Amino acid sequence: MIVDLHTHSDASDGCLAPQALLALAAQNRVDVVSITDHDTTAAYPRLGGDPPSGMQLVAGIELSTTWAGRGIHVVGLNIDPVNPVLQRDIARQQAARRARAETIAARLAKLGVADAMAGARRSADGAGIGRPHFARHLVEIGFVKDTASAFRKYLGAGKPGDVRANWAPLADVVRSIESAGGTAVLAHPAKYGLTTTKLRLLLEEFVAVGGRAIEVVCGSQTPAVTRRIADLARDFGLAASSGSDFHGPETAWSSPGRTAALPRDIEKVWELW
Ligand code: AMP
Ligand code: MN
Ligand code: MN
Ligand code: MN
Repeated sequence: MIVDLHTHSDASDGCLAPQALLALAAQNRVDVVSITDHDTTAAYPRLGGDPPSGMQLVAGIELSTTWAGRGIHVVGLNIDPVNPVLQRDIARQQAARRARAETIAARLAKLGVADAMAGARRSADGAGIGRPHFARHLVEIGFVKDTASAFRKYLGAGKPGDVRANWAPLADVVRSIESAGGTAVLAHPAKYGLTTTKLRLLLEEFVAVGGRAIEVVCGSQTPAVTRRIADLARDFGLAASSGSDFHGPETAWSSPGRTAALPRDIEKVWELW
């Protein structure tokens, strides 16, 4: 069974429309898929109709939060995407996103980028503005050669465009997911640059506020990382999730469903449902 419980559509910072994303997943023979856009469920009402035949669609979201001064992501799976509590919290996240975008644009202006806000808005095309939209704008105007350099020089950790938004706290994003009947999953734990001690502190708090699962596999990662996170999952009694974190076909190394397998002897997040 091929499972991908972490993907992005153009409802956030992905490149494909929701329907096209599912079509690509079907082509890759994915059996179970979730679209987990940043701080929005807007992909779901756009889908209309059923997913491609034989494919199971799990409603999801990826919520942004701040923990110990760092940006952390929590995936919510098996949610009711129209739940009013979740939608109220999403509206707050989107307001935080808009305010942050203005700050990012002001900082880029100081570096000589005119009209960054208008450019990012064009690139987002109605979606909540994220750093990738600024990155794409910087590429378009020739300020950098590609989005990787945009992050390395201007938008990544510690750079001027790395502005902390006023995201809901960890306990609140987990509660939003629970309110919508979903399972809270700590996203890509290996990608925060946390020491093992810090990561264990985060997991302690995550479990204490109701977190139930962790991405043991996310995108492409080494077997050593998978083993390390699987051990943490067992230690903290968390189920294992798996996803590509696919954003678009231009990244050749990432495609829906193309991830390493989860270890056999670990509880899978979908076994909770
Ligand atoms: P935001 O939601 O605005 O904080 O933007 C975070 C998103 O930026 C992530 O979900 C990725 O899609 C993208 N991103 C983060 N770091 C990088 C990077 N170094 N290179 C390319 N994209 C990145
Ligand atoms: Mn993203
Ligand atoms: Mn993420
Ligand atoms: Mn993601």
